Amino acid sequence: METDDVVDRAQQLAREYISGLARRPVGGADAPGLRRPLTDEGLDPIEVLEDLAADADPGLVASAGPRYFGFVVGGSLPVATGADWLVSAWDQMSGMYSSSPAVAIAEEVTAAWMLELLGLPALASSGFTTGAQMANFTCLAAARGALLGALGWDVEDRGLFGAPEIDVLVGDEVHVTVLVALRLLGLGEARVTRVPVDANGAMDPGALREALPPGGRPLLVCAQAGNVNTGACDPLEPIAEIVAERGGWLHLDGAFGLWAAASPRFAHLVAGRERANSWALDAHKWLNVPYDCALAVVGDPEAHRRAMTLSAAYLQGSGTREPAQFVPEASRRARAIPAYAAIRSLGRRGVADLVERCCDHAAMMSALLSEGGLELLGDLVLNQVLVAADPGHVARVQAEGTCWLGGTVWRGRDALRVSFSNWSTTEADVRRSARAILEAAPG
Ligand SMILES: *Cc1c(COP(=O)(O)O)cnc(C)c1O
Repeated sequence: METDDVVDRAQQLAREYISGLARRPVGGADAPGLRRPLTDEGLDPIEVLEDLAADADPGLVASAGPRYFGFVVGGSLPVATGADWLVSAWDQMSGMYSSSPAVAIAEEVTAAWMLELLGLPALASSGFTTGAQMANFTCLAAARGALLGALGWDVEDRGLFGAPEIDVLVGDEVHVTVLVALRLLGLGEARVTRVPVDANGAMDPGALREALPPGGRPLLVCAQAGNVNTGACDPLEPIAEIVAERGGWLHLDGAFGLWAAASPRFAHLVAGRERANSWALDAHKWLNVPYDCALAVVGDPEAHRRAMTLSAAYLQGSGTREPAQFVPEASRRARAIPAYAAIRSLGRRGVADLVERCCDHAAMMSALLSEGGLELLGDLVLNQVLVAADPGHVARVQAEGTCWLGGTVWRGRDALRVSFSNWSTTEADVRRSARAILEAAPG
């Protein structure tokens, strides 16, 4: 039967890619073979798949492999990749309970597990978004609605024209996606107040207190757990205290850093997290599920639902939780399923181990590079290693292909950053990559 043949061939090609991941050069090059003309007649599906795999190959980045340390990417646990294949096979429209009870239930269960693993309030509402970008957006939309609603302004109905102003404060090391979310929500990217941070990039609570506007207006503060350069987490207890005193809304962007909460060794970094009003976190980074999967969590379920709800006569609610009421999208894939599979396969202990192993690898890398004569920048607190390096050094590491990492600028210094968030990285990978980084150093 043709369907079986096509699916079998696709699986074979995927298997070959996955089993070669640890051996291929990590960086990607051009993939000119993909630039084919559109034809009048179609092509045999198996031929399409074979061409696709061959044409894409040179341009694929082994970011799911063990020696990719760029950005904060994470790989994919085999069980999560497998579950993702089921998601494609099932092809469920995951916006409504009636269009897939299984997915709606799996979402509820997965979200509850994630809240429990990370020590977030069990009664918070959640929605599965494409990434932390849209999780930030969703959470901040709920914040906007709740803050203005408290003043009798219904922003969902009336929009922002003529609305009371909201004071928005972010740490100076805020992730760009928070600024994009603020921009999309009409809160402005440049009108925010940026609160000074400490040497490692964490918001300074004293500076937050000083930066607070005189008061009287609604207050939104965006904190961060997991700085993309240093891994630094804002001190949430004092920040939450300050925001609570002012009756404000505290949003926490914890895309990867919130996973520290799953580990008894690292949870202290995010102490006080439960006092925030909303939380954005990724599953496709540190939980090691395939793209795209993140969670928007809001402590005020009504504000969350109001901000995202959609209604039309033909969309008849089932009386149960409707997944689309908590995310910006209507139709979408069943993106919670791979996270469901990953968490079940790992258990509490396995999630903690995954986090701790990555942090141990970061500590090992940090020690090896420093012993090798490189200068560490920033304090190692979690899974991100930051080292002084000129752009030429970074480019040589990338071109050599043993591992891949990105360049950055930290406090005016050129640097390279090594991010550990892949389940499959071994100590041997760390040693081999450290050697490659040291050999590419100038002089
Ligand atoms: C990665 C990241 C984001 C954006 O997440 P996406 O999943 O790429 O949308 C936001 N904040 C922080 C701190 C991040 O590390």
